[in-house]
Amino acid sequence: MGIKLLTKQNRSEMTKILITGATGNLGKSVIKHILKKTKAENIAVLVRNIEKGNDLKSQGIDVRVGDYTNYQLLVDAFKGIDKLYFISGSEFEGRSEQHKNVVNAAKEVGVKQVVYTSFLRKDETSASPISFVVADHIETEIWLKESGMNYTILKHNLYMDMLPLFIGDNVLETGVIYQPAGNGKAAFTLREDMAEIAAHLLTTEGHENKEYDITSDKAYSYRDIAAFISGITGKTIDYTSPSVEEFNRTMTEAGVPEMYIGLFAGFSLAMEKGELDETNSVIEQLIGRKATSVEDYLKTVY
Ligand code: NAP
Repeated sequence: MGIKLLTKQNRSEMTKILITGATGNLGKSVIKHILKKTKAENIAVLVRNIEKGNDLKSQGIDVRVGDYTNYQLLVDAFKGIDKLYFISGSEFEGRSEQHKNVVNAAKEVGVKQVVYTSFLRKDETSASPISFVVADHIETEIWLKESGMNYTILKHNLYMDMLPLFIGDNVLETGVIYQPAGNGKAAFTLREDMAEIAAHLLTTEGHENKEYDITSDKAYSYRDIAAFISGITGKTIDYTSPSVEEFNRTMTEAGVPEMYIGLFAGFSLAMEKGELDETNSVIEQLIGRKATSVEDYLKTVY
């Protein structure tokens, strides 16, 4: 009769998944992992600049152009998409409005599920030292929940990959990690682990209307990290935690741009307050292996 029964497997093969932020670190990594699970013809990506998508196009991926700031381009780009992996915007300025465009455009064209990369937090008030990061995520989560689309919210902890930026390129020369984090800890989580989780969630069922705290199974202080780097390199690395006022003054005198000073201070203060020390075994539960440890990661860097 020529009519094929749709099995669970070929149904999921026909699902068209669009990955935004495909030219960034996380997006590239998600694409690498998802291509191990589904064919390139089932994948579409959103890029701001068509030329940056050439490599993906040559792999058989459907490259679509769009910008979170341009609603109509998003509507056109999301047509025919079942699942959207929505990577949060990288610019703080106007991000909330950008995210609203993404959610509304997905809803307008009938996207069935949005998997959104949010940020882990405990304090949701404006008193949080990272409210400048978290506020847009909270709003976006509300819009997703109110949209009527299925949502999966991934509350990412702080990227382990940010550690070299926080610690400073020249830590082996200065011999000191200088951050106002006190004895606070964070369960730094590798971006590559987050990408593998995303590929799993996007290609399996049962994650509709769920929220996952994507964090590793152990939290570390900068003192722990200093000890790891000392052990790896054989050079003594100390940790100094100045007051935030002293930190801001020292960084300003060293010519560090104000935006970075605010970012470093905010995350350190969040660590000191215990905002980021949440641990769980969600990575192992979802992808069957332990989260990458900070020590193993630092060995690849130093
Ligand atoms: P990234 O390398 O900077 O990549 C950001 C991606 O988003 C790029 O592909 C960029 O496109 C795209 N993008 C930015 N603004 C856009 C817009 N207006 N319209 C369409 N696309 C836009 O960042 P990442 O390392 O992959 O991280 C992904 C996201 O996680 C970031 O955007 C940020 O929201 C968040 N983040 C989380 C942590 C954490 O510790 N959890 C740390 C840093 C960032 P272009 O290539 O055209 O620029």
